[in-house]
Amino acid sequence: MIHEILPVGPLQCNCSIIGDESTHEAMVIDPGDEIESILALVRKHGLQVKQIVITHAHIDHVGGAMKLRAATGAPILLNQNDYALLKMLDVQAAWIGAPPPGKVQIDQNIGQADTVKAGSLTANVIFTPGHTEGSVCLYFPAEKKLIAGDTLFAGSIGRTDLPGGSFEKIIDSLHDKLLALPDDTLVIPGHGPQTTIGEERESNPFLKGWRHTPPAPLQRLR
Ligand SMILES: [Zn+2]
Repeated sequence: MIHEILPVGPLQCNCSIIGDESTHEAMVIDPGDEIESILALVRKHGLQVKQIVITHAHIDHVGGAMKLRAATGAPILLNQNDYALLKMLDVQAAWIGAPPPGKVQIDQNIGQADTVKAGSLTANVIFTPGHTEGSVCLYFPAEKKLIAGDTLFAGSIGRTDLPGGSFEKIIDSLHDKLLALPDDTLVIPGHGPQTTIGEERESNPFLKGWRHTPPAPLQRLR
């Protein structure tokens, strides 16, 4: 598996470029910004982008999707419960003082139990509402790797006080779905450093089996 992780934009969203080493087919997850840098990595590995997957419709994750789609011809995939958030990208841009990214068009809805493929690589879509109504994570079972969007961070979880957020739902998503994964699953959060499911099961204060009050926002949109 080719896997490049590139923090993009003012909020440093972790964009993942994942490619099959033999077929060179690839998917790009959360191209929030800096599309030229993403395309440079795509070219460096000789990849052909087949899918653009969005974990949720916050501007720092989806802002560059149309530009990448125009450059690659790849379809944009997002859970339909976040379509409403997509319609307020201009409002989101104002929240963070960024220029409005323009309209983003979704080509395909993805939800629980769907799979997304790039060559021989397969990711299971895990529906994890809470940070937003349509948040998803991508789990690569063969590689035991989780792209977690803004649902799970090293030592924290996504904020739930923005439109569409729900603390009860994110806690359910974390306990019922993400903690069901093996302890040695490598987690790539939407922002910040990598971790593992075992490490978070052990030490994340939001995953210790009782319900806490929502976390104070650490950073806008995450
Ligand atoms: Zn977010």
